[in-house]
Amino acid sequence: MQTAQRRRFLLQSAALTVAGVSFPASWAAGKIKPGERAALIVVDVQNCFVPGGTLPVAKGDEVVPVINRIATAFENVVVTQDWHTQGHASFASTHAGKKPFETTQLSYGQQVLWPDHCVQGTDDAALHKDLKVPKAQVILRKGFHQHVDSYSAFEEADRKTSTGLAGYLKQRGIKTVFVTGLATDFCVAWTALDAKRLGFETYVVEDATRAIDLNGSLDAAWKNMKAKGVKRIQSSDIDVA
Ligand SMILES: [Zn+2]
Repeated sequence: MQTAQRRRFLLQSAALTVAGVSFPASWAAGKIKPGERAALIVVDVQNCFVPGGTLPVAKGDEVVPVINRIATAFENVVVTQDWHTQGHASFASTHAGKKPFETTQLSYGQQVLWPDHCVQGTDDAALHKDLKVPKAQVILRKGFHQHVDSYSAFEEADRKTSTGLAGYLKQRGIKTVFVTGLATDFCVAWTALDAKRLGFETYVVEDATRAIDLNGSLDAAWKNMKAKGVKRIQSSDIDVA
């Protein structure tokens, strides 16, 4: 067998597992099959972030059927919920003279100020009613410290306080994460960047996210994620058997 033929034979016949993701023969068709060491992270698919909510992401509700479909391919699913106190430090209304989408300086650095959103226990903070991820094993709430925001599911905005998610995933042998949800350029990007930095092979499923895109934030987020080694894929790249 010539080298090229042999290589093709090996590619087609071998089921390869890299960092918890298996690339079976269907890899040739560009499909990724999440294995038992992969987890789907569904970021903030809550009423507050879809049209009709307090901080709506344009077309945010469109991620729901995409996430529902790919979630069937995962054994491990983590769902996050933005979960703020009344008068939270990230709300413009908390800061005299400030309007939503302006910035202010907090103890840990610059903070974008948002409309009041995702207040603990409100319908606005509930998960979207059509989100169907019955395999979800953890619902991780974040942003519940009054004076600290948390875009990332792993670490709060002070860059010191851990949510514990990395420990949870590592103790369960998870090596790879696929990040979806809202919004691409804030909570999804920060979650993906932290995941990668903390040692997880990290994919963002682009069509399972929607963006806020504030002053070019979406483009900047993709550039930053690419530079740090976060992989950008589409839901059609995942083998949903
Ligand atoms: Zn928030």
